[in-house]
Amino acid sequence: MKTNEKRKSGYVALIGRTNVGKSTFLNRIMETKVSIVSDKPQTTRKQILGIKTTDNGQIVFFDSPGIHIPQYKLNERMMKDVHNSLLDADVILYFIDVADKRKDSFIIDLIKNSDKPAFIIINKIDKFKKSKALDRINDVKDVLGWAEIVPISALTGTNVELLENLIFKYLPEGENFYSEEEYTLQTEKFFVSELIREKVLNLTRDELPFTTFTKVHEITDKAKVVYIRAEIFVETKSQKKIVVGNKASLIKQIGETGRKDLEDYFDKKVFLELFVKVAPNWRNSSVVLAELE
Ligand code: GDP
Ligand code: MG
Repeated sequence: MKTNEKRKSGYVALIGRTNVGKSTFLNRIMETKVSIVSDKPQTTRKQILGIKTTDNGQIVFFDSPGIHIPQYKLNERMMKDVHNSLLDADVILYFIDVADKRKDSFIIDLIKNSDKPAFIIINKIDKFKKSKALDRINDVKDVLGWAEIVPISALTGTNVELLENLIFKYLPEGENFYSEEEYTLQTEKFFVSELIREKVLNLTRDELPFTTFTKVHEITDKAKVVYIRAEIFVETKSQKKIVVGNKASLIKQIGETGRKDLEDYFDKKVFLELFVKVAPNWRNSSVVLAELE
């Protein structure tokens, strides 16, 4: 622990379009998997807290869902989360993809109105030449009075430590909010359901972008094995067919890859039982949304 400098602590909101690498960054800086990653939009549906405690202090990250215009009830909830994370934030990290030139005027306005120090994070620099990153910096540097402009690769870790040090520069002095052992506040059930949903998203191609919901009914930690029973909800019979697959091949694969990750997580043998159910229009169901709370 540092003796000559005061410890700092604060909240950091990760915002930006879907697929720019926010969750990948969070997992990288946390050095463990706290948020699921996929190449599908709207993968992250709920704020995930990553709590990083170092010699300098404590950073609490909100990984917000991607910003978009509310359409379904679920999306309204996600937008509320985004607004709340901006209200709570001490520092905003606004992520863009080095290759994506779309102007996010909606997001920029949200950041402007928040009046908080905002960094622009230009991610995925591993994919392109340095000159491309420099071009992108030139494009965005005058859009707002950025506190910092930081090109990174969340995937390889380039500049992630530098970014962490920059964040600390802007955090207020203060004691830890959470104990040092805590690194996330999501429940085990939620994390397990997200891991399973990640497998569904990654193993189905483009057919099922927003239409799955996973509910974990039981996690029983027995002496030698963790028993988990979960349901995967889809909206139509044909989607159920996709998730189950030919001769149940896909659901088997979802179960196998999910079980492997869960065994890593629990450090124990896992018995995973999965059921696929049809729940039409679940995105507008308050019951299902309450389940996501
Ligand atoms: P989010 O929607 O903003 O949370 O984005 P994700 O973290 O889920 O990442 C979306 C996709 O981009 C995934 O396929 C990631 O593997 C990929 N990705 C994220 N960061 C990087 C990066 O720094 N470099 C490269 N090449 N790919 C990345
Ligand atoms: Mg995400």
